[in-house]
Amino acid sequence: MFRVIRLLCALISGMIFCGMQALGSEEIPILLYHHINDVPANASRPMHRWSLSPEKFEAQMDWVFRHRFHPITMQQLIGHLKHAQALPPKPIVLSFDDGLKDHYSVVFPILKKRGFVATFFIITDSVGHSAFMDWEKILEMSGAGMDIEAHTVTHPNLADVSHEQARFEIFQSKSVLEKHLNKTVIVLAYPYGKYTQDVIAITKSAGYEGAVTLSGLNGGYLFRADQSYTLQRFAIEGQDNLDCVAHIKGFD
Ligand SMILES: [Zn+2]
Repeated sequence: MFRVIRLLCALISGMIFCGMQALGSEEIPILLYHHINDVPANASRPMHRWSLSPEKFEAQMDWVFRHRFHPITMQQLIGHLKHAQALPPKPIVLSFDDGLKDHYSVVFPILKKRGFVATFFIITDSVGHSAFMDWEKILEMSGAGMDIEAHTVTHPNLADVSHEQARFEIFQSKSVLEKHLNKTVIVLAYPYGKYTQDVIAITKSAGYEGAVTLSGLNGGYLFRADQSYTLQRFAIEGQDNLDCVAHIKGFD
């Protein structure tokens, strides 16, 4: 039966999942979302790929609720990982990259309605510009229990910039966020999921307790104590069905 479901899911999503291992119960799924909005039919392929409609997103959050998952923040996950803090049963992390306007206008109300928390990774130099949330909205979300963490200053590929530039991006984004939010920022999301050993070393020296990368859906995710600076996330794409993803990855 499981084989049939897997095949069906692969067909539906257009992706090849066969051969993936189901994960153990100690591993906690970290989902990654980008745009939650309707894109026009003539939008670019990347825009279609990284945009999930509000209806689909809400249906996915209903799925999370129905399956009795308890969304937790990255702060909670790191607290558990590094300081043995207790977590609710069936934890799951919902994370959103780039600090987009629709994270406030669409995602925030859908999460609030269900009592869910999530983590939002902010590019500090983008705050307030065109497609991005301003500080007022970010502060409101932070005040409502949402976890706000760092996604660098200008969103470069950290594996591709000088040591000095990487240092600036990693240190500065943390301090700008902390100044605005009056709270400690402990997690960094590497832009494009790219990092090097030097980037990890800088991240640690800046005082972050963990960092997230990303993986395609075929890359899976892992969650172990020694991987706190390379925590992988499932990128949910526009065509994805969470039910299928969960079956394949074995976290439902
Ligand atoms: Zn990003």
